[in-house]
Amino acid sequence: MELIASFQVDHTRIVPGIYVSRVDSAGAEVITTFDVRMKRPNVEPAIHPNAIHSIEHIVATYLRNDPQWKDRIVYWGPMGCLTGNYLTVKGACTLQEIYPLILAAFRHCRDYEGEVPGTTAETCGNFRLHDLAMAKWESARYVEILESSPCFEYPSVERTVVPGSGALFHDS
Ligand SMILES: [Zn+2]
Repeated sequence: MELIASFQVDHTRIVPGIYVSRVDSAGAEVITTFDVRMKRPNVEPAIHPNAIHSIEHIVATYLRNDPQWKDRIVYWGPMGCLTGNYLTVKGACTLQEIYPLILAAFRHCRDYEGEVPGTTAETCGNFRLHDLAMAKWESARYVEILESSPCFEYPSVERTVVPGSGALFHDS
């Protein structure tokens, strides 16, 4: 039987950085999803739900108002594991292109003053679940990583797929 080697992300070796998570086609277009990873999964404490919720509001507002990028932003939101966020943009997009935008968005969140945008019962599904001080602290920490030693390449484990059987054979 023919075997095909493919790769999947090894979550035990992910470090903070920015990664291309997926590239999907939608009709004639492609959309690019980035993994904006802020924490080492299962190693360091995840981001508090209140903090990542405030990051969601502040960064989404920034991205959707950036003159160069606003028309390409499809989605920004936190991962359920609370170690990072997903950013989906229209079109093919490289890490080199997206890096300055993400850095600027997190500098904006680090320096943010005033009320978190959209935190009323009319505009948010859980408007009490916010923590601006921790959102700023987490953003400052992530900016330091982005400015010094961000990772851009997923650690992968090779696996072997048997076509048609759905069976996976992990070799690591
Ligand atoms: Zn909300």
